[in-house]
Amino acid sequence: MIEVTLLGTGSPIPDPDRAGPSTLIRAGDQTFLVDCGRGVLQRLAAAGSGAPQLSALLLTHLHSDHIADLGDVLITRWIGTFGPDPTPLPIIGPPGTAEVVKAMLAAFGHDISYRLEHHADLTEPPRVQVHEYTDGTVWDEAGVHVRVSPTDHRPVAPTIAFRVDHGGASVVLAGDTVPCATLDALTAGAGALVHTAIRRDLIEAVPLQRVRDICDYHSTVEQAADTAARAGVGILILTHYVPAMAPGTEDQWRALAATRFDRQIELGNDLHRVQVHPGVCVKPAG
Ligand SMILES: [Zn+2]
Ligand SMILES: [Zn+2]
Repeated sequence: MIEVTLLGTGSPIPDPDRAGPSTLIRAGDQTFLVDCGRGVLQRLAAAGSGAPQLSALLLTHLHSDHIADLGDVLITRWIGTFGPDPTPLPIIGPPGTAEVVKAMLAAFGHDISYRLEHHADLTEPPRVQVHEYTDGTVWDEAGVHVRVSPTDHRPVAPTIAFRVDHGGASVVLAGDTVPCATLDALTAGAGALVHTAIRRDLIEAVPLQRVRDICDYHSTVEQAADTAARAGVGILILTHYVPAMAPGTEDQWRALAATRFDRQIELGNDLHRVQVHPGVCVKPAG
């Protein structure tokens, strides 16, 4: 079984009730944070976890809303990990990730030096292991297998989706993307698809071109549902609602997805949790 928790279902627009984009994946005894938008560590605490407990941080892309609290994750894991020889945090993302992580640590350079000077048992700066990928297997440990494929969020590039497999269960995290063949291939035969989604009908009504521009490179609710249907997944999990899903409108979003996908549809507020069991895919790959 793989457990998916929507830590942050918000968008770049600050919302009093929704943290920025971030999803928690628990598979076996491993814990993966996928993206780290604003407020992620508060939601992670509410989900009963924390930065020191992460097996790895997975980044779909380097848009600010998806990495807003990267510095908080790095520093909080560092100062919240006790005991000698802390494990470096594996960070897996697209090319550019190493540069961003290095710059983030540099931005916190003063903080890091204060703490190194103050605490005798902190003897080195935060340890990270950054791995940049656009395709292929990125993780294979204790029965948890993770692979990535490129997605299409142009002009933001490169961007990647993750597929986590464990004990026959599988979950794909699409991130921000328009429909594309590489995402279809990664998702084929998976149990669940976690996909960011926008309401084109609402966004196109906004009289600001900069807001309407976001339709260029995101999937609509219907397109995300089409991707789920093509792949034969059993569960479509929508997140990163643009605009924020207003209270009482959940059924509208669900109905739009249901026009294209007739199986289990999950959406909701931050901390919404979904269990993905083996065998929920409708069209096993191959
Ligand atoms: Zn994005
Ligand atoms: Zn985004």
